[in-house]
Amino acid sequence: MEFRINPTMEQKILIWKTFGCNRFVWNHLLDERISYEKKNKGKLLNTTPSHLKKENSFLCEVYSLALCNTQLNLNRSCKLLFPEGKAPKFRAKGKNKRSYTTNRINNNIEMIHIREKENYIKLPKLGRVRIILHRSIPDEWRMKHATVKETASGKFFISLTFDVDIEPIETRKKFDRIEAFDYSMPSLVVSASGENDITKDDIRWYRNLEERIAKEQRRLSRMKYGSANYWQQKHRIGKLHEKAANRRKDFLHKLSRKVSDSFDAVIVEDINLQHMSRTLNFGKAVYDNGYGRLRNMLLYKLNEQGKVLVKVDRFFPSSKRCSVCQEVNHNLKLSDREWTCGNCGTHHDRDRNATKNLLDEGKDILNRWASGDSSLILTPSGVFL
Ligand SMILES: [Zn+2]
Repeated sequence: MEFRINPTMEQKILIWKTFGCNRFVWNHLLDERISYEKKNKGKLLNTTPSHLKKENSFLCEVYSLALCNTQLNLNRSCKLLFPEGKAPKFRAKGKNKRSYTTNRINNNIEMIHIREKENYIKLPKLGRVRIILHRSIPDEWRMKHATVKETASGKFFISLTFDVDIEPIETRKKFDRIEAFDYSMPSLVVSASGENDITKDDIRWYRNLEERIAKEQRRLSRMKYGSANYWQQKHRIGKLHEKAANRRKDFLHKLSRKVSDSFDAVIVEDINLQHMSRTLNFGKAVYDNGYGRLRNMLLYKLNEQGKVLVKVDRFFPSSKRCSVCQEVNHNLKLSDREWTCGNCGTHHDRDRNATKNLLDEGKDILNRWASGDSSLILTPSGVFL
């Protein structure tokens, strides 16, 4: 859960110092790990930041657990990347993520309620920081850790992670209303019902905002780095990015809410969007329409209600198969928006046909699962494997 915080100037300075110390620790430990790994063939060095503290007393000014978390994150990245012959990136000043995480130990992080609209969060080293509680936190939730971050527009937020006991909801076995979403390039996302398509018009505002961002970015590039104007412009751009991200998130939240409330199951394609954008060179468009995000939002909104998201294998020939006679048209090209089945003569709109196939395939999987097919397993995330 994320909340806005309003630190005082003094607190901001300490937060910035912590970001800086984290960057310092990250870069120094990374440097040590890379040279150690080279000398010792694949062995991972696991030093703590304490030896750095001896030589650099400024590290003692900030909360030590924040530095520990940086070390842990670094270890995780090294473990993943070293075996592939890669290494985590060094962090540059001002560029990389501006955040740090602290763990909750012995009430070192606490919520302090003064009155209706005046609340504080007690944080290690920082003391009481004003927090905007836009929603309440149930008493039985146990806080685990807190991440303080600064956005590109200069706002401060804290995201809190809790341990929560959630009662399991039983998954239904009867699916009356089923929706399917097909990922399609020019028309973005096509729905089986035809009522939940995402068209270019739906995201026009996003494109417009993007153009504005590009314009402001060009303006920034002509400014003197570090000048007052420069930072002002940088914040302006940060605000636009946030606006775009928020509107997009909002749009997808509304759509996924509407769909998960009115359908019992949703079928989607299990495609790797990152892979797709690279191979087909669709680039940004793939990320823009948010098919992947929509899937994630649908997943948890359906799960809350005991409903199911079904991912259909991406090698399933949804576009090339005739939804009437099942004949596969191997000659169908990506540019063919309409086609006629050589076997039964049905004329198809490419996307509608694909969505219909996806829906049929998904219904089949759901029926098999509901009737006890043991080769289908429902994972906790609601996906069949
Ligand atoms: Zn046919």
